[in-house]
Amino acid sequence: MSDNKKPEKILAVKGMNDILPADAPLWELLENTTESVLKSYGYQKIVTPILEETGLFARAIGAVTDIVEKEMYSFTDSMNGDLLTLRPEGTAGTVRAVLEHNLVYDGPKRLWYKGPMFRHERPQRGRYRQFFQFGAEAVGFTGPDIDAELIMLCRRLWDDLGLENIRLELNSIGDAAERLRHRADLIAYFEAHSELLDAEATRRLHSNPLRILDTKNPAMQDLVNKAPKLLDYIAGESLAHFEGLKSILDHNNIPYVVNPRLVRGIDYYNRTVFEWVTDALGAQGTVCAGGRYDPLIEMFGGKATPAVGFAMGMERLIELMKEVGEPNEPSLCDVYLVHQGDGARMQAFVLAERIRDAGLDVILHCATASGAGSFKAQMKKADGSGASFAVILGEDEVANHTATVKAMRGAADQSQQSSVGFDAVVDYLVDAVIGAHGHDHEHVHYHH
Ligand code: ATP
Ligand code: MG
Repeated sequence: MSDNKKPEKILAVKGMNDILPADAPLWELLENTTESVLKSYGYQKIVTPILEETGLFARAIGAVTDIVEKEMYSFTDSMNGDLLTLRPEGTAGTVRAVLEHNLVYDGPKRLWYKGPMFRHERPQRGRYRQFFQFGAEAVGFTGPDIDAELIMLCRRLWDDLGLENIRLELNSIGDAAERLRHRADLIAYFEAHSELLDAEATRRLHSNPLRILDTKNPAMQDLVNKAPKLLDYIAGESLAHFEGLKSILDHNNIPYVVNPRLVRGIDYYNRTVFEWVTDALGAQGTVCAGGRYDPLIEMFGGKATPAVGFAMGMERLIELMKEVGEPNEPSLCDVYLVHQGDGARMQAFVLAERIRDAGLDVILHCATASGAGSFKAQMKKADGSGASFAVILGEDEVANHTATVKAMRGAADQSQQSSVGFDAVVDYLVDAVIGAHGHDHEHVHYHH
């Protein structure tokens, strides 16, 4: 810089958050718990790209939806003119991959994914422009049993996470023919009350009237509450599917409320729709939403294949988890390696690698702008790391081929300090660390 002005700081893109180390244990707890629950139901992981062709989402999500109309981050690839979009949700990419790799050729599949999603929304509590979802998709199953399984999987997850007060709202939106009959009556009803419709509802009246039922406009609540209910148009197989689902849930004591206004904002859903909702997060109370989308795969050019899935918003779950408690602060390492002098520094590298070979976690003290650090300063760092042991290599130790092992905060007996032969120190540490409290600091637990 020629003048003395400091360069301007570059900040994160609005609505896109950093997850800082202080919150990492909570995220780890959420991810580990979710993955182990998914595994316990036989779901397999799938990872798809964050970028897809824009056309994929336009087709999969439906043109007259919040997402496709106004929330997608789309751009033209300057290299070749391709129209690309940062994925706003995970189902479209998962279904594309299922078809592209013919994953269901040998039978139905239970899949799950996690990762960042992008939507250009107005940032507010529980609503961000980059957010993370966990999702599951079960492809190739027809009956209400798989719908029930997905719901019970969520129930188990809330229990395992210690989250209470998440209620299940359930509805059926039937099949296309049933929705068409309901749609005609719905349009007639709204037309008869057109003076009560807001601008968005007026615009959607003929393109996606079902979405009007989803409105958050307080002035329209009375109107939509009295509107013709889709559930009243559902009969035959759709109704049997819904009744079948409810009877499995009843049999397993899974409470739910049927919410006839629950329609989901996405066009490809049919039959079962559900949401897990809490009152603890203000306006953004839906932590998980899902349902059946039997028509989608055929719309994509595949053989007609039924499918059902859900997606959960991880930031909203993290916020709920924060109300339960903070996880125990995990120690950063088992061993903090303190060293003084050039000879000791070279030996410290060798020793640190050997200790890691034995399966323990080691932080090796490294120089900073203020230098290599005094013995006292290094011991302070060792203490702050939460390590069970500090291993000290100084001039004396190097001369005697020993290391000093000092028990720290994380150790059972903190008065312990021993001089150990250099070649014996790894075994000594392994015994001491595992002997003291097992080696499970990777597992994060809540502390209430
Ligand atoms: P909403 O009505 O809140 O806009 P949605 O119908 O757009 O929700 P889905 O597309 O069903 O939401 O996404 C599933 C879940 O992902 C939501 O229930 C929510 O927990 C989470 N989610 C959706 N959009 C966001 C966002 N912008 N920021 C954070 N989480 C989100
Ligand atoms: Mg939305």
